Amino acid sequence: MTSPAPPSTKVVVIGAGQAGLATGFYLRRGGLVPGKDFVIVDNATEPGGSWQHMWPGLRLFSPSTFSSLPGWMMPTWNDAKHGYPPRSHVVDYLTRYEERYELGVRRPWLATAVNRETGQGELTVTSNARSISARFVVSATGTWTAPFWPTYPGMPTFEGRQLHAADYHGPAEFVGQHVVVVGGGNSAAQILAEVSQAAVTTWVSSRPPRFLPDDVDGRDLFMAATARVKALNEGREHSGVGGLGDIVMVPTVVDARDRGALKAEPMFTRLDHSGIVWSDGAREHADAVIWCTGFRPSLRHLRSLQLRKSRGYTPVGGPAGTRVLDEDRLYLVGYGDWTGPASATLIGVGRTARDTVADILHRLD
Ligand code: FAD
Repeated sequence: MTSPAPPSTKVVVIGAGQAGLATGFYLRRGGLVPGKDFVIVDNATEPGGSWQHMWPGLRLFSPSTFSSLPGWMMPTWNDAKHGYPPRSHVVDYLTRYEERYELGVRRPWLATAVNRETGQGELTVTSNARSISARFVVSATGTWTAPFWPTYPGMPTFEGRQLHAADYHGPAEFVGQHVVVVGGGNSAAQILAEVSQAAVTTWVSSRPPRFLPDDVDGRDLFMAATARVKALNEGREHSGVGGLGDIVMVPTVVDARDRGALKAEPMFTRLDHSGIVWSDGAREHADAVIWCTGFRPSLRHLRSLQLRKSRGYTPVGGPAGTRVLDEDRLYLVGYGDWTGPASATLIGVGRTARDTVADILHRLD
């Protein structure tokens, strides 16, 4: 007996973080009805995307006005002493954004596979016991569930604690310890700023960290990322204020600099059972190592499509630069510059969602 065909819709969006919500905003604005013409699924039980899992002290690297999704500005955050909005303000904004546009996110709904050929030329998104078929699928699953761990000799035998920035929750658990913070980006700088108030810290990075001037913040980075991708697309060189990996001098990081805690050493070459060792043999004891070494796109649910990789990424193209070349009914939104300039930021994802939905609506017509 053949199993009944899964329910069908026009578009399924996998992920209801900022990328999925921005996509839902434009689908709805394009006349599609949430829950009927498009369905957004998310495996978390609560709204807010990965912002709900980031450490409590995390601050945005741009002001609320420059961290808004399409349609509704992020409510202003006025706290001159602490600077930009905290993580909780973003979770609240995304929660209210989802309600405001009545996007009807189905949660918890974990997409475990996307398959071709349901007969009507649709793709089928499958969860444990459920499936939905659709003309088009947008994957907006972010990177949080794919933390990147580099490999260094001695990691398996190091007797201290090792954790990724994704599992960092605050400085209290490191009081009185010697903590090594690895990485040269915003996460490393903000975590170092916190931990250095509770513990002895050593900061190491494989390249000298780049600090933005105190009066430059995320909005400048967004403009620079946009200009850089535009220049690359036009075959021009681009050198402007840094990239999204450059460190924004939020107040906690400025304070750490003033305390002399913001000095990065070159990267060590290995760990031994109780510390880190540099190439010249110098070593330092460590009770814990926090790897602020970034993330990779969370695309496990697409394995079933056996998409090829090119330079580590899934080749994309089309009018919005988000259509998967090996399966052009699938779109990738919000994964970083390779899917649209600054698309992995609150301010940047709106443009890439807008252009992706315009392409989908055109093809639906
Ligand atoms: P996410 O927020 O990760 O949302 C993806 C959603 O998809 C999640 O809800 C997840 O539960 C769900 N999901 C994943 N897999 C599945 C699946 N298989 N099935 C169903 N649902 C699934 N950006 C800024 O603009 N300003 C900043 O200051 C800033 N600071 C950052 C600091 C840190 C530490 C990090 C890591 C990132 C920061 N970013 C910042 C970048 C970016 O805004 C965030 O990474 C943001 O979370 C990306 O949103 P997203 O919607 O792409 O992904």
